[in-house]
Amino acid sequence: MVQATNGQRPVFRTFQRRNMEDIPGFDRLTEHQQLVTDVVSRVLPFKTNNYVCEQLIDWDNIPDDPIYQLTFPQEGMIDPEHFATIADMVRAELPAKEIDEVARNIQRSLNPHPSGQVAMNVPQVDGEPMPGMQHKYDETVLFFPAQGQTCHAYCTYCFRWPQFVKLDDLKFATKEGGNLVRYLRAHPEATDVLFTGGDPMIMRTEILRRYIEPLLEPEFERLTIRIGTKAGAYWPHRFVDDKDADETLRLFDDITAAGRHLAIMGHYSHPVELATEASEKAVRNILNTGAVIRCQAPLIRHVNDDSKIWADMIRREVKLGCIPYYMFVERDTGAKRYFELPLERALDVYNGAFRDVSGLGRTMRGPSMSATPGKVQVLDIMQVNGEKVFAMRMLQGRNADWTNRIFFAAYDPTAVWWDDLKPAPFDDGFFFDPELNEMHLAAVAAADAPVPVNLGRKEPSSA
Ligand SMILES: *Cc1c(COP(=O)(O)O)cnc(C)c1O
Repeated sequence: MVQATNGQRPVFRTFQRRNMEDIPGFDRLTEHQQLVTDVVSRVLPFKTNNYVCEQLIDWDNIPDDPIYQLTFPQEGMIDPEHFATIADMVRAELPAKEIDEVARNIQRSLNPHPSGQVAMNVPQVDGEPMPGMQHKYDETVLFFPAQGQTCHAYCTYCFRWPQFVKLDDLKFATKEGGNLVRYLRAHPEATDVLFTGGDPMIMRTEILRRYIEPLLEPEFERLTIRIGTKAGAYWPHRFVDDKDADETLRLFDDITAAGRHLAIMGHYSHPVELATEASEKAVRNILNTGAVIRCQAPLIRHVNDDSKIWADMIRREVKLGCIPYYMFVERDTGAKRYFELPLERALDVYNGAFRDVSGLGRTMRGPSMSATPGKVQVLDIMQVNGEKVFAMRMLQGRNADWTNRIFFAAYDPTAVWWDDLKPAPFDDGFFFDPELNEMHLAAVAAADAPVPVNLGRKEPSSA
């Protein structure tokens, strides 16, 4: 067990394919499940740890256990032909290099960079690109510290999976905290900095402090500091009793003492993650620094596709003093077909959970899609002008003027993602189409490179 006893510090231990036989519980898997772990992890990133395996996974409930589904590769995550090809190579004990080559090609077919992330969101200062940042919405700059580009365990649904498999050099990372400071000076409209990754809490506090301290200077009084992390779920000892925990809490204290608002954007996917002694203590310790915790997660088939699970999770969050924030729709990348749910079903889960919690839990917005034009919420299904439509709301627009606009999309019971949606039959197109088109052309011109046109839908509305 990893629980600290009498001053003994819990030790963090990771497991990947190379040491998968050491996983506590691995011998509980059937031979086929073990093969699946080996085969699928050649294509999709796989990493788990001792806390996840010992405290979160119920090994009597394999393969249905939600945290097993969340952190272990499953057969259905890649195409059957791909699975068969690699399984044959693994069984034949071919050299890893040969298998890797085949796996690379499969990876490239999995839409590694959805929603124009690379072409449209890389900011510049004085004409110099800032590759470790993203600035899509005026208020919030995303910062990807170079040392934070991994996690305590990998979620099988991760939309940033390409950066963990070294598919290419497009991962958003920067070594330069200096760039961030320069960029924020040039952009007074940015009120929030979101440290993200990977998981910034994978970094030693000493490094994290180096990035954050400059932002505590008086010139940045306007800033809110956000840290996106799943450490509270995957390694809560980070905030309780591992060797760096005290330093971390001291840094959080210093941030709030400097008058900055510190928002921990906690990634919690299932109530189990908030039901251990360590995870509850982690929340309490973080809140005691004056930080707030806002919780968000995607809705994922096999993991949390049930309104009761969300209601339970929301209630736990509120009870512990956290604020439910977003329910996301799983992005169109990686093993999406394994995880995806129709938008109609996502709305049902959201509404079911919403109905089941008090007003304090109804701060969670969703189901929300981070798509090319912005964050788009599915609001309802209704009849308008005699047509069945999805009512949608632009929670965040690539152009701030779009914020909060309500619009419609044709009802489609099979739609699982933004790309599947078309304008309602009575509309000429989505209201933002002309402007988005212009932005896209401008971004392509700025990047000075031909970029595949992807307006966030398969068919541009020409009607
Ligand atoms: C969600 C998101 C943000 C932050 O949006 P809030 O609604 O302010 O939390 C910033 N940038 C990107 C790219 C996002 O997807």
